Amino acid sequence: MAGKLGAAPVGEVYPFFPVTGSGDWGFPVSKAKELIKELSVDEKVAIVTGIGWANGPCVGNIHPVPKIQFPGLCLQDGPAGIRFADNVTVFGASINVAATFDKDLMEQHGQLLGKEFRQKGVNIALAPAMNLARTPEGGRNWEGQGADPYLAAISASLQIKGIQSQGVIATAKHFIGNEQEHAREKSSSDIDDRTLHEIYLPPFEASIKAGVGAIMCAYNLVNGTYACENPHLLHTVLRGELDFNGFVMTDWWAGMSGRETALGGSDMMMAGETVWGAKESYWGPNLVRMVNDGSVPMSRLDDMVTRILAAWLKMGQDKDFPPTNFDSFDPSKGSHVDVRGDHAEHVRKVGAASTVLLKNQGVLPLNKVKTVAVLGSDARTPEDPNKFADRGGVDGTVALGWGSGTANFTYLVGPYDGILSQATPQGINVTHSFDDWDVTKAVETAKQADVAIVCVAADSGEGYITVEGNAGDRNNLTLWNNGDALVQAVADANPNTIVVIHSPGAITMPWIQHPNIKAVVMALMPGQESGNSLADVLFGKTNPSGRLPFTINTAPEEYGAHVQYHTNVPVDTRNRCIPETCPHIAYSEGLLADYRYNEAKSIEPLFGFGHGLSYTSFKYSGLAISSTGPSARVSVTVTNTGTVPGHEVIQLYLRSPPVAQKPFKELKGFSRVFLEAGQSTTVDFDLSERDCSFWSDGWKVAQGTFEVLIGASSRDMRVNGTFVI
Ligand code: BGC
Repeated sequence: MAGKLGAAPVGEVYPFFPVTGSGDWGFPVSKAKELIKELSVDEKVAIVTGIGWANGPCVGNIHPVPKIQFPGLCLQDGPAGIRFADNVTVFGASINVAATFDKDLMEQHGQLLGKEFRQKGVNIALAPAMNLARTPEGGRNWEGQGADPYLAAISASLQIKGIQSQGVIATAKHFIGNEQEHAREKSSSDIDDRTLHEIYLPPFEASIKAGVGAIMCAYNLVNGTYACENPHLLHTVLRGELDFNGFVMTDWWAGMSGRETALGGSDMMMAGETVWGAKESYWGPNLVRMVNDGSVPMSRLDDMVTRILAAWLKMGQDKDFPPTNFDSFDPSKGSHVDVRGDHAEHVRKVGAASTVLLKNQGVLPLNKVKTVAVLGSDARTPEDPNKFADRGGVDGTVALGWGSGTANFTYLVGPYDGILSQATPQGINVTHSFDDWDVTKAVETAKQADVAIVCVAADSGEGYITVEGNAGDRNNLTLWNNGDALVQAVADANPNTIVVIHSPGAITMPWIQHPNIKAVVMALMPGQESGNSLADVLFGKTNPSGRLPFTINTAPEEYGAHVQYHTNVPVDTRNRCIPETCPHIAYSEGLLADYRYNEAKSIEPLFGFGHGLSYTSFKYSGLAISSTGPSARVSVTVTNTGTVPGHEVIQLYLRSPPVAQKPFKELKGFSRVFLEAGQSTTVDFDLSERDCSFWSDGWKVAQGTFEVLIGASSRDMRVNGTFVI
C-alpha cells in the first residue's frame, strides 16, 4: 500500500529541491537570496522558528530582523474570518463558498477576507483549508471545499487568488490526508500514489498554480511518516513535481522533531515550542546548533529562509503593511480597527447562493401565506453568539462549526429574525416556539399556521474541543437536540412543513418521505447573515441555485468512508505515535470518493452530489464538442424555460475510456450563469490534457473514447456526447 510514499529512514540527508524562482517568483526569490547574505545563523533561525503560543498578538508570530528591515510576521486563522479579533466579518463557512459553484463569488470571498486580514495587520492568513469531505462525519468538513477534488481545487485556488490580491499570504492547508479529527496527531493516513495524485493532491496543486505563498503540513502521518517530516511529500512531490516556490509551515506543534523536520522539508516551525505549553523548541537554539555542527546543512536553512522572505516580498509586504492592531490573547490591547466595510452584503449573498433547495413541492417561495410558524432552537438568534470559546457549543442557531477556523461574531441574525424582517412588511404573521424538547408547544404553534418552518441542526468542529460528546468529528449523522422527533411531530401537525437544516454536511433524514414535508432546505453554515440569507431564499428574493458539494445518502452505511474513532493511542516520550501501535487509516476506497463510490456500488443517493433545485426550470440543448489533440472544447446551450429569473449551475462530468480505469464519471467543469425567464446562453468548457489523463507513475493521456455528460447535478444528466483521443 505504502508504495513510494513509504516511511523514509530517519538520519539521512535527502535530496531536496532548492527554490527555483520560476514564473513570477523570479524577482522575489533573487531579492530574498540577496537579503539572506547579510544574516547570521541566529537571524536565519529566528525567521524560521515561531516565538511560541501566546507570546505575541497572533496565533503564530515570527520575530523581526531589523538588519534587513524585516518586521516579523503575524499568522492568524481563518478561514471563516479573522480569529480572536474584534470588528471583523464572520463569513460563511468554506463549505458554503464551495456550494455556490460560482467562480466569481469564490474569488470575491477571498478578496474580502484578504482585505480584512491586511487591514488587521495579518501577514499570513491560515486559509483556505482544502482537505476533502472524505467521510460525512469529518469534523472540519465545513472548513473545506466539499468532497470533490475538482470543485475543491477551483474553490480553494480562487480564494487564494483573492486573498493574495490584497497582499496577504494565503496558506493551503492541511497537507495532506488530514480528513478526520480523531487521533489526528497519532494516526497514519495510508493513501496510494494514484489516489493521492487524482483525489487529494489536486486542490494543493491548483493552489500552487495560483501562486500560494504558504502550505501548512498536517498533524497526521502519511503512509507511516509524519506529514511535516515527510521528504517524499514535501520535497519530491511539492517541490520536485509541483515546483512549489513558497514555504511549508508546520501545523501548530505538528513539527515532531528537529532534524527530521528540517531535513524532511518543513521551512517554518509553528507555533515554535515542541508541544503546547513547553518552553523549548525543536528549532530555535537547537537548529542553530545543528546547522553549526553540520547535521542540518546550511543550504537547507538558507532555502527555508529564502522561501519565507520570497513569499513576504512577493506580496509586497516590505512596503506599507499595516501594523497588527489586535491581540489574540488580550482583547483589550490593540487599536480595534473596524475592517468590516460593507462585507455583510457579500456574506448574505453567498449565504443565499449556497442555500441548497433539496426538495420543493410547490410550497416555496412563500407567497399568499398569512401565518408562518417558525420552530426549533436552530431558528433562534443566540443572545451571545460568542458564548462558547471558538464556538465550541450550541446555543441557538448553528451558523459556523467550532475550532480554530471560527471568528468572533459582532452580530448574528438567526432564521427567526431573518424571516420576521421580511414577513412583517408583507403583513405575514410569524409565530414561534424555540424549545426542541417541548414538542407539544411546537405542534400547537405549527397547527395554527399556514406554513411551519422547522429549523434543525447538526454541528462539528476541530478535535481539541468536544461538544455534546462529539470530539470534533460527529459521532453519527443524526440531527442534534431532538431534531428528528421535532420534524416528525411538526410534519404530523402541519400539511405545509418546511425543514431548514444547518449542518457541516450530510445528515440522515428518516422523515424525508413524510407527505406533509413539502420542502427541505440545506443552508449549511452561512455565517453572520444566516437568517437574512435564508429568508431571501424562502421569500423568493433570491432564486436558489446552491448545489450540494457532497452526496447525501439515505443510510450511514451507504458512504464509502467513515471516521475511525481511535482514542487513547499510545505515544512515546516525544508524543509520537509508536510504529507498532499507530492506527492506520486506509484510504481503501481509493479513487471512489463521494459520488464515485455510489456509482461503483450502484447506491442511489437520497440527494446526489451537485443537486439543488430552483424556482424556475432550465433546458439544455445543442451540445457541441470539438477535440484537438489530447484536449477538447465543449459548448452547450441553456435556456431558462420557467417564469422567473435565476441562476443555473451547469456541471460537466467526464467519463474516461476503460484504459484509464477511472471511476464511472468525474466532475471536470462547472459554470453558474444567470438567465432571465426565456433567455438562453451558450456555456463553454475546456477540457485540458490533464482532464483526459490518469496517474500511473506520471500523468498518462488515456487513449480512446471519452463521454461528456452535462447536466444540473451528478444524478441529472441532460445532454451527452463523445470525443476520441
Ligand atoms: C489547526 C490549524 C490552525 C492552527 C493555528 C491547528 O490546530 O489544525 O488549522 O491554523 O491550529 O490555530
